[in-house]
Amino acid sequence: MEEVTVNVIDLNQCDEDFIKQLIELGAEELKECIQCGKCASTCPMALAGLEFFIKRIIHAATLGLRDILIEDPSVWACQSCNRCVEICPMDVKPYEIIQAVRRAAVRVEACPASTYEGLRNLYRFGHAVFPKGFEERRKKAGLPEKPPTALSFDELRKKYQEVLKQTILEEIAPFPLD
Ligand code: SF4
Ligand code: SF4
Repeated sequence: MEEVTVNVIDLNQCDEDFIKQLIELGAEELKECIQCGKCASTCPMALAGLEFFIKRIIHAATLGLRDILIEDPSVWACQSCNRCVEICPMDVKPYEIIQAVRRAAVRVEACPASTYEGLRNLYRFGHAVFPKGFEERRKKAGLPEKPPTALSFDELRKKYQEVLKQTILEEIAPFPLD
């Protein structure tokens, strides 16, 4: 006989403040979700078999299940394709819900280490990713040690940081924006 898994939600975990926080962080249409499941029918990650993807994330968000969402690694698997946004009949913008959950997680440093590092590098140097030993490899290829980006121009980097300080990063960055 086929084994059946039943997921039980402990309603004592519902956190109204967390719902408000998500709405403030960009999930404005969260409460419009009718759980029709269309987003999951088109989401490539749900179709790839991620157990807790999109429709369930939205459901957990509407219930304010903070701990489940903050600890769920599938929140970080979204590919930003926006298919869910196009198909949603209620204009919930599911992708924005994912982003709001991510922002809430970043705020409490509950994001993957690579995301934390990427954000910090992006702010400090203008590049999220630094391949190890890139200076040496550039020199070997006959290129200047640093690429002609914000990495090479202090003034530009400072201007870029000023722009970032006017984004939501100012509010949620888990590192000082100095
Ligand atoms: S987010 Fe939109 S598409 Fe997804 S379950 Fe809710 S109403 Fe349906
Ligand atoms: S944007 Fe993210 S959640 Fe939406 S369909 Fe694409 S992968 Fe899925």
